[in-house]
Amino acid sequence: MSNISSDLALFNDLAEILLREEENSPVADRIAADQLYDTIDLSLREAPMIDEEFKQAISNVLVSTPKTATSLFFNQLFGGRQGKAMVGDLLAVMLNNSMYTYKVAGPMVGIEQEIITQSCNMVGYGANSNGTFPTGGSMSNYMALVMARDAKDPDSRTVGMRKPLVIYTSKESHYSNAKNASFAGIGRNNIRYIPTDSVGRMDPQLLEIQILSDIEDGYIPTYVNATVGTTVLGAFDPVDQIADVTEKYNLWLHVDGAYCGGVLFSRKYKHLLAGISRSDSFSYNAHKMLGTPLTCSIILVKDKKHLHDSFSNDASYLYQTDGDDFNLGKTSFQCGRRNDAFKFWTLWKSVGTLGLEKIIDNQFDLADVARNYIRNNSDYTLYSYDDSISICFNYKAIDPMQLCTALYEHQITVVGFGSFQSDTFVRLVTINATNSTNDILNFFKVLEEFVEANPSLLATSEAVPALH
Ligand SMILES: *Cc1c(COP(=O)(O)O)cnc(C)c1O
Repeated sequence: MSNISSDLALFNDLAEILLREEENSPVADRIAADQLYDTIDLSLREAPMIDEEFKQAISNVLVSTPKTATSLFFNQLFGGRQGKAMVGDLLAVMLNNSMYTYKVAGPMVGIEQEIITQSCNMVGYGANSNGTFPTGGSMSNYMALVMARDAKDPDSRTVGMRKPLVIYTSKESHYSNAKNASFAGIGRNNIRYIPTDSVGRMDPQLLEIQILSDIEDGYIPTYVNATVGTTVLGAFDPVDQIADVTEKYNLWLHVDGAYCGGVLFSRKYKHLLAGISRSDSFSYNAHKMLGTPLTCSIILVKDKKHLHDSFSNDASYLYQTDGDDFNLGKTSFQCGRRNDAFKFWTLWKSVGTLGLEKIIDNQFDLADVARNYIRNNSDYTLYSYDDSISICFNYKAIDPMQLCTALYEHQITVVGFGSFQSDTFVRLVTINATNSTNDILNFFKVLEEFVEANPSLLATSEAVPALH
């Protein structure tokens, strides 16, 4: 056997071990952080390791690593495993292209462009649109902000920021907005956080009032970051009404769909993005709702001129053949860039656009299952709303922080907590489309059994006010 063939055989053995482990203990054997280095041997040494020992060392790590693909992982805005996407990603690793030039990436360039073109069409952006695959939703927000800055103040690209630009987002938006304002030279203090309504959506009237007051004070309103699928509640900012404001005052409108922008693929839920074609840029993470492996993030720009203006730079050692349309490095942040498109393409190719729609619709169906269960059971209090796949609740008024931590430490299920206004609650995310109704009901069952077996948790209860 060649070396690679025997390495692949090793890979297959380890993958089998992992799959068996996921089945037998869907919540991994947890190692307390302060005992990590004493529990498994992670050390790197001078001497090589022989085959069996090497395999055992890897297998030890696999067993203890959190299992994000199983039906008991609800902690984050991703979960599950789409096999056809995984195949694409494993092959992308073997091919090991870099996406900057056609010379090195070949047809992968066309694959990336096909995804971008189809996505732009669904958004309704028109012939001048394009996009790229950044490293994630945080980077997508950053690229949008830089394009907005350069569009408002082109000189900032050469002489640096000299003008008092200000930007807007909601209180519930992603924390990358704060970091990005600092990176882009805008400054964290020059973000205006617009309050949300009672269901977590940015209030467009308060946005306009803030813009008018900033103009009055001599600031230059530049950019609005709207969120479709806020990180905690999964709320959708009203893009159409926000676009009325950004068009009136000539601000760049970016729509951050990292979490729930995938509703683009669902005829039933696309209305949650109403007005999206009026935005200047839109991003979504295929590694969240669409279930590809991390990371697969896409930013679309209505007028591709802005991507070129902000991100292209000549480099004669790199761009030697084939022209700008095929040399994607002209519009990316990175130089060497991982092929994140192929896994999304293998998934999309195999299930079709209709299959992607099913993935999205199933997440909302599972959310309905969870909400109905909660509404029909008086031991629960619900804090989130319909049309969201984040189901926020408390059980018997138990302190959600203590409940989530205990569930995790006892390897019952992995779920997180969040806050909105004055409430803190458990946040169950039904983003794993490979789950069934029974998996969701099982989540409540294991939670209830756990509380029954650990009555001391009830002592942490406080009267928790219900929203509805
Ligand atoms: C997850 C998320 C992001 C960040 O995306 P990463 O790929 O993790 O960087 C940004 N915005 C929202 C609304 C998100 O949910």
